[in-house]
Amino acid sequence: MNQSSQGPGTVIVVGSLNVDLVVGLDRMPEQGETVLGESLERHAGGKGLNQAIAASRLGADVRLLGAVGDDESGAWLRELIRADNVDDEGVATVTGPSGTALIEVDARGLNRIIVVPGANGYVSADVVGSSIRTMHGVAVVMTNGEVPLAASRAALAAGRAIGALTILNPAPVLDYREHLVDVDIFVPNEHEAAALSGLPTETDTEARAAAQYFYSLGIANVVITRGAKGAIWASASGVVDVKTFEVSAIDTVAAGDAFCGGLAAALANGYEFADALKWASAAGALAVTIKGASPSLPMRNAVQNLLK
Ligand code: ADP
Repeated sequence: MNQSSQGPGTVIVVGSLNVDLVVGLDRMPEQGETVLGESLERHAGGKGLNQAIAASRLGADVRLLGAVGDDESGAWLRELIRADNVDDEGVATVTGPSGTALIEVDARGLNRIIVVPGANGYVSADVVGSSIRTMHGVAVVMTNGEVPLAASRAALAAGRAIGALTILNPAPVLDYREHLVDVDIFVPNEHEAAALSGLPTETDTEARAAAQYFYSLGIANVVITRGAKGAIWASASGVVDVKTFEVSAIDTVAAGDAFCGGLAAALANGYEFADALKWASAAGALAVTIKGASPSLPMRNAVQNLLK
């Protein structure tokens, strides 16, 4: 694929915005029981928000298409992405709650999580498709599975129609078979790759075969991310290993989102694919060195330093 013909341009992310409410407590309540929590934290999350912020911090011009509720959380999420220079014009406000994750973590570190998609479930395929089709200067359209399948599918089709590179991060695991025809770059992690292909991805050989399998379905670039083991890239040039950067891992949350954001930002800035993968790997590695999701998404100069 010749990135230089693409030139610098905007990254469009179509995806979810969530509020994570994290309660720390000694032990989980039994059915019908009330216990006192010890701490309460609110964090911004959702793959759309994380990937958009990641790409923006790495120097891309980013627009997020999605939806928040007409609650206080929605206003807060909007403010937050704006503060990170992400264009929020395509984030609709819909009646009802914003996407919310209720997370309980006990003294042993075990958790229980309830995700309420809320506004994310109302992201409209028609609105996404028609707004992308009117946009100019779009280099990359990236989406994931935390919005309705019709919306992610419309995003990819519209991205393809306007000549942008299209990226699908197939998380969570859903039936994306109808999406694939419009995907240029498919980025599952090894667990998603295994679930979606029915193939094992544990060893290097297995992961390579899984990447080759997706490539054989007609996807030009398949990138399977494998945590500290790095990534595998399958394309017309063959199957190659993408090295990791050695870091001391503290918290792996959002590594995949940093990787996707890094890949999109680098491609939008005109990098060749192999170089864009270095940016993605560096962003993923840096994200595991800091606790949390958005706090861990690295800035451009941190990635540049790691790449030196
Ligand atoms: P996800 O968060 O979706 O499970 P991964 O854990 O596969 O994604 O991480 C995405 C990418 O981030 C990896 O391919 C790698 O480049 C980088 N990465 C993740 N964990 C580490 C780590 N411990 N050390 C170095 N790089 C890492």
